[in-house]
Amino acid sequence: MKAYARTAVRLHPRPGEPNIHDSHIGGPLIWPADEPWPTCDRTIALPDDDWKHRIPESPVPMVGVAQLYARNIPEITFPNGTDLLQVLWCPNEHLLEDNHVPFLQLIWRRISDLTGYLDDPPMRHHETPDSPPDAPASELSLEYYLPRPCLLNLERVTEYPHSATLPQQLQAALKRWDNEAGVMYQSLLSVAPGCKIGGWESWHLTDKYELPCHVCGAETKFLMAFASKEWDSESRLRWQPLEERHLEPGTVSYEEAHEPTTLELGRYGALYLFVCPHSPDHGYRFTIQ
Ligand SMILES: [Zn+2]
Ligand SMILES: [Zn+2]
Repeated sequence: MKAYARTAVRLHPRPGEPNIHDSHIGGPLIWPADEPWPTCDRTIALPDDDWKHRIPESPVPMVGVAQLYARNIPEITFPNGTDLLQVLWCPNEHLLEDNHVPFLQLIWRRISDLTGYLDDPPMRHHETPDSPPDAPASELSLEYYLPRPCLLNLERVTEYPHSATLPQQLQAALKRWDNEAGVMYQSLLSVAPGCKIGGWESWHLTDKYELPCHVCGAETKFLMAFASKEWDSESRLRWQPLEERHLEPGTVSYEEAHEPTTLELGRYGALYLFVCPHSPDHGYRFTIQ
């Protein structure tokens, strides 16, 4: 199993007031004063009973979802001398690769290139109310794609692959170990739940499938996961932080630890993001699990 060990950086986002110089989820992005804020004009799928499709009348402003500095998370493979990753998305459902998901944009920057930046960059977060279907296009957004601003509490852990993706022989050995020693490899030893950088992606919803780069065909590399919840009833035995185990379910403090970002991603709750090892200009791939 040693050959399969990978380090994941668990982000442990918790509600706070991040600023533009912090690594964060859902806080303000450091933004060049002379650079227009990105927008999305892709067709929106309205999540009613039959997924009506609507072309926005005017472009929808993107929302800053994460900002990650190399000085905090050097484990990220920053391309071409960059040292800052900003993740934005359009907070609407778009039909991409047979999934209804927000449309993402990844921006890789070099901090030394940022000479002048906005003091008060645009920010939308989860207290912005759901927009009704007849709202102006520029206001269209789904509350569950608007993150609550969170500071990060980084933790490095060792992960192993989702059991179903391992060779048959190892799967059988792990099953025996689970049965004989009462271990729960899948929940406790393999893939950490919650928001994280690197490590392994989970394949608990679908069988594993290949995610080649759309541009060059290379196998993409797992970058990070955005998750709806930080643990579930099984994984909490290992992955719920010890410092928070005294929190009572149903209280605000438990909710802020368990669902800190307020994001809701898919039925089972995590979006795994992959990038091409050859060029940051080759877009991204994803799977919802
Ligand atoms: Zn959009
Ligand atoms: Zn590529």
